[in-house]
Amino acid sequence: KKYEQSLTLTRKTFSDGFNELFANFRTVDEEFFEELEETLIMSDVGVDLAMEVTEELRKEAKLVNAKSTDDLRQLIIEKIVDKFDGEKLPTKLDIQSDGLSVFLFVGVNGVGKTTTIGKLAARYKNEGKKVLLAAADTFRAGAIDQLVEWGNRSGVEVVTKPAGSDPAAVVFDALAKAKAENYDILLVDTAGRLQNKDNLMKELEKIGKVIKREIPDAPHETILALDATTGQNAIQQAKEFSAVTPITGIALTKLDGSAKGGIVLSIVQSLKIPVKLIGLGEKLNDLQDFDEEFFVRGLFK
Ligand code: GDP
Repeated sequence: KKYEQSLTLTRKTFSDGFNELFANFRTVDEEFFEELEETLIMSDVGVDLAMEVTEELRKEAKLVNAKSTDDLRQLIIEKIVDKFDGEKLPTKLDIQSDGLSVFLFVGVNGVGKTTTIGKLAARYKNEGKKVLLAAADTFRAGAIDQLVEWGNRSGVEVVTKPAGSDPAAVVFDALAKAKAENYDILLVDTAGRLQNKDNLMKELEKIGKVIKREIPDAPHETILALDATTGQNAIQQAKEFSAVTPITGIALTKLDGSAKGGIVLSIVQSLKIPVKLIGLGEKLNDLQDFDEEFFVRGLFK
């Protein structure tokens, strides 16, 4: 239910666009395809995906042969679902069946990174797992306090050092504690200073090295948090972060307040990075795993 509500604004974007497309519908001709492409672009699915979908539909006789606008609508939805399914990206978080799972979280300030970590910590704690948080965004004292607050909220311990400390040292301490005390999951918050890419890259590299020294196949996930309300800006952030460090999944936050949820399709299509988590609100349980087909079909309901 929460999920359904959260997509309301995005769904309106899609339904308004498609209603307009079909309101003046006469026939499937070149003008129709151009309007379709425009409608898709306006729905934030990204120019590339809009063009690809339109081009493929243009080549197929299906649309021309459709008997009604409802059929047309359905054919367009199926084409988008197909394109999405074709990517076959893993959408489940890589939890180790044995031993410690280490997840790094990256993203610019304000996108909902800390909130996502807090929600995820609560989820795993509820599943009976032993969860530890590492406050490796030592750049801002506020960020440390905030993570500690989330830890308190869900009854999860947080490893901290004073603001200004070496982030890698925080991670080192957290790993030592996690190993010594048999934790199942370590979630690491990092600083998201994209404006200083060299520093950010060095910082993440050092954190990565510290982790690998302890656990060679970790981090098991590097999750980039993106704010769905920022639309195509989020895509730009994803591109920039990908250039700094490999991203294994995206947590798309604030879908509840966004009319631009269509960017999920744009992210997957243009970056080939799976969306793994979606944020649907500010509360502890407003986080869900992402299901591609369910999501795409939901947009056109
Ligand atoms: P960070 O700087 O990236 O760590 O961002 P925060 O986790 O501090 O979140 C910034 C703001 O966004 C806070 O006011 C959060 O309550 C809010 N927020 C985070 N995730 C969501 C979400 O999924 N939905 C809504 N509506 N707000 C969110």
